Amino acid sequence: MPLGPDLVARFAEITGTRHALTDQAAIAPYLVDWRGAYQGASNLVLRPGSTAEVSAILALAQETRTPVVPQGGNTGLVGGSIPDESSAAVVVSLARMEAIRALDPAGNTVIVEAGCTLQSLREAADAADRLFPLALASAGSCRIGGNLATNAGGIAALSHGVARDLCLGLEVVLPGGAVLNGLRTLKKDNRGYDLKNLFIGSEGTLGIITAASLKLAPKPKGRALAWAGVATPDDALVLLNRVQAETGSALTAFELCGARAVEFAVRHGGMRAPLTGAHPWLVLVEISGTGQDTEAEATLGALLVAAMEAGVADDAVIARSGAQGNAFMALREAMSDAQKPEGHSIKHDISVPVAAIPEFIRRAEPAVERAAPGARIVCFGHMGDGNLHYNISEPAGGDRADFIARAPAVTAAVLELVTELGGSFSAEHGIGRMKRDLLATTLDPASLALMRTLKAAIDPNGIMNPGKVL
Ligand SMILES: Cc1cc2nc3c(=O)[nH]c(=O)nc-3n(C[C@H](O)[C@H](O)[C@H](O)COP(=O)(O)OP(=O)(O)OC[C@H]3O[C@@H](n4cnc5c(N)ncnc54)[C@H](O)[C@@H]3O)c2cc1C
Repeated sequence: MPLGPDLVARFAEITGTRHALTDQAAIAPYLVDWRGAYQGASNLVLRPGSTAEVSAILALAQETRTPVVPQGGNTGLVGGSIPDESSAAVVVSLARMEAIRALDPAGNTVIVEAGCTLQSLREAADAADRLFPLALASAGSCRIGGNLATNAGGIAALSHGVARDLCLGLEVVLPGGAVLNGLRTLKKDNRGYDLKNLFIGSEGTLGIITAASLKLAPKPKGRALAWAGVATPDDALVLLNRVQAETGSALTAFELCGARAVEFAVRHGGMRAPLTGAHPWLVLVEISGTGQDTEAEATLGALLVAAMEAGVADDAVIARSGAQGNAFMALREAMSDAQKPEGHSIKHDISVPVAAIPEFIRRAEPAVERAAPGARIVCFGHMGDGNLHYNISEPAGGDRADFIARAPAVTAAVLELVTELGGSFSAEHGIGRMKRDLLATTLDPASLALMRTLKAAIDPNGIMNPGKVL
C-alpha cells in the first residue's frame, strides 16, 4: 500500500519538499535496477542532505514502521537497492551527501560522505598525489556507501583488498535514528567488537552508512599493462604464478577473459581487439609500484617474453602510453555492458580457490551445454582473486523463452560445481533480492541463525531493506 499523504508530508518536512520526490516520472529511475531485472514501486524518494536528516528519517520510519530502502548509485547487480512492488517503502538516496570531509595525505586517510561517487573520490585522492585503490567499471555512478554496503571488490582487489580492507571506520544511522560515530582514522584500535564490519556487506539491512573513513595508498609511480593470449586457463594460472612470484604486490590486476567476452566488447563497446589472431583466452596484466613507467614496462615485457618462450603465453602486447594503458583497461571494463545487446543472460558471480579456476572452467562448460544447449558462455573476471563472472548469454538466434526456462537448471549446474570446489555463489556483488533463497538454503545453519539474531537485535521491526539478504 502506498504511503499516505500525511506520512509523506512528515517525511518531506525533514528533507524539505524539494528533496522529497513524489512525482512518478522523477521517482522512476530509483525504482529499476541497472540491469532492468527488478522493477519496484514507491511513492516517495527522499534525498537527505545531512546525517541529521538521515537520523530524523530513520526515527520517523521506526515510529511508523515504514520500510526503508537505502540507495547509492543504483549500480548493484542483485536487486538490493530496489524496493518491492508493494509501494510500502520509502527510498532513501544518499546522492546529495557527497562531500569529502577531510583528506589527510600525510596519514593516507580520507573521510568521505556516503554519496560521493567512487570516481570523485579517486580523483580527489589523485589530486593529493594519493590513490584510492577500489576500481570498478561503475566508478562514475556507484557511491562509497554502496561500495561499502556491498563490500565491493573490483579489479584492484588483488593487491589492495576489497572495500572492507580499505575501511577504517563508519558513521552509520541505525533504525530509530541513533548515530553510530565510528569515523576514526586509526590503524590500531581494539576497543571491543569491530562494529563497522557488521555494516560492511550488510546491503542496507542494518542501517544507513552516512560517511566512512578510508585508507589511501601512495600513488604508484610506474605502471605497465599488457594483454596476453593464452591457450587454456591452466596456462593463465601458470602465468599468474610466474608474474606474482616476480612482482609480488606490484601485480595490481590479473583478469582472465574468454574470447567471447572480448568479442562482445569489441562489437558493442567500440573497442579494438588487443591482439591479432585467435586466442581462446586473453589475460589483462597490470603491474604498478615504484620506479618509472619504463621500468615497469621492462619488467612486464621480460616476464611475458619468458612466458612465451616457455610456451605459457602465445602472444602479448604491452601498452606504450598511458592512453593505451587506459584503453586496455577500458576493454576489460566494457565487458559487463557489452553483453546486454546479445540478449538475455544468466549471471553468476562466483569464486573458487584460485588454483581451482581451470578445473571450474573445464567442468562448467559441458555442464552448461547439457542444461542449455547452444548457450553462449561469456566468462571474464578477476582470476587473481579466484572470482569469475560466469555469465551465459542466450543462443544466437535461439528460442529466448526456452533459454529463460532453462535458467534454474543452468544456475544449479554452475553452483553445484562451485560448491564442490569449495567456492562461493556470491563473490563480490552481494545477496540482495536475487540470491536470498540461495543464502537461506546453503549457508550453515549456525551462521544463518546468528545473522538473524543480529538483524533482529539491530532492526527489531524489520524496517531496513526488507526482503534483502535474509
Ligand atoms: C558496469 C558495472 C561494473 C561493475 N563492476 C563491479 C566490480 O568489478 N566489482 C564489484 O564488486 N561490483 C561491481 N559492480 C556492481 C556495483 O557497481 C557495486 O555493487 C557497487 O558497490 C554498488 O554501489 P552503488 O552505490 O551503486 O549501490 P546501490 O546499487 O545503490 O546499492 C547496493 C546495495 O547497497 C545498499 N546501500 C547503498 N548505499 C547504502 C548506504 N549508504 N547505506 C547502507 N546501505 C546502502 C543498497 O540498499 C543495496 O542493497 C558493477 C556494476 C556495473 C553496473
